[in-house]
Amino acid sequence: MIRFFLLFLYTTTVFATTIQRDRWSNGETYLVFLEKNNLPVKSLYYNLDKDDQRLTEEMRAGIHYQIAKDKKDGIEQILLPLNDELQIHIYKANKSYKFEAIPIISETKTETFSTTITSSPNYNILKETGSKKIAQIFVSSFKRSLNFKNDIRKGDRLVMIYDQKYRLGQPFSMPTLKVAMIEMHHKKHFIYLNKDERYYDEKAHEVEGFLLARPVRGARISSYFTKRRWHPILHKWKAHLGVDFAARRGTPVVAAGSGRINYAARMGSYGNLIKITHADGYETRYAHLKAFRRGIHRGKRVKKGQTIAYVGTTGRSTGPHLHFELRKRGRAINPLKVVQVTTKKLKGKKKKAFLKLKKAYDKKIELQLQNNTPFIKPAKLQSVCYFHQRRQ
Ligand SMILES: [Zn+2]
Repeated sequence: MIRFFLLFLYTTTVFATTIQRDRWSNGETYLVFLEKNNLPVKSLYYNLDKDDQRLTEEMRAGIHYQIAKDKKDGIEQILLPLNDELQIHIYKANKSYKFEAIPIISETKTETFSTTITSSPNYNILKETGSKKIAQIFVSSFKRSLNFKNDIRKGDRLVMIYDQKYRLGQPFSMPTLKVAMIEMHHKKHFIYLNKDERYYDEKAHEVEGFLLARPVRGARISSYFTKRRWHPILHKWKAHLGVDFAARRGTPVVAAGSGRINYAARMGSYGNLIKITHADGYETRYAHLKAFRRGIHRGKRVKKGQTIAYVGTTGRSTGPHLHFELRKRGRAINPLKVVQVTTKKLKGKKKKAFLKLKKAYDKKIELQLQNNTPFIKPAKLQSVCYFHQRRQ
């Protein structure tokens, strides 16, 4: 049976329902949240399966969530976004509360703006857009190739084209940079997002970011990263926030990047788990391990490619494999996007395709520089109405 749920989310009262918008605070856990709101921990946590319980650990500080309340201040529905694609939906049905993971309905808009630098790119982007996230993606994209400190002159300009997701009329999640251009002493420097989802400069050289080694050499990938997928047998939405490498029990697991071990012990459904902290807010996780290598413990520094543990099937696992995760400032990202490739320079057909894409972007940038369109503040929507589907 398919039931349609209709959510009216208005800034003011509609059908006697008020929507409260809140921010997930630092250190807040899902269980504490339930208790704070007098919600039943048994049906909304302890009775859930392990995968759903794991999802509840994905709530991060600073995330905006919504609570719909009735006239008597009773909770009707809650939406807790876990990433940019999946959210927890808690709702009242037959006087009890239910839990489900459902897709996030969002809209993506491509935005463009340019600005003249009077101080620093970071300062001017922040001043123009009011968004730390936009400033951050611009600055970090050029971090390895340019030195903003010494080489920028007042009057140099920059252009950004990026995709921004909107949820319930508000900018949502990290923007995706598509092209960035900055003048330094009036010489233009570019970064382009290619179809392969990697960044290249104007000469079709890959812009080196944070690069990882494969954590298990020569292993087959048995499950890919996905922020949401429909499970056809369990009939529900799930997420797989890592990549699974199938390998024999005892196969060495290597550190995907240099860093410091901040966890090496058992952790629930992860089984034996290692977490490594890397530069720039990155963290890698290695789960279901059979054992840790001798001398591997919390606090130890490791080098990229160094053996740290062995493949196993501890925790919630159906057979020997490595479950590998990459996180940036706590958020799960697809590790395969940063796993090192042998070629860093595009050649042949791939280069041709890239140059075509580049040409189209260059036109847009040129137009932007001519028109000098400022950043347009996203219009706050008066009301948002949306449907979502629930299966039973
Ligand atoms: Zn996995």
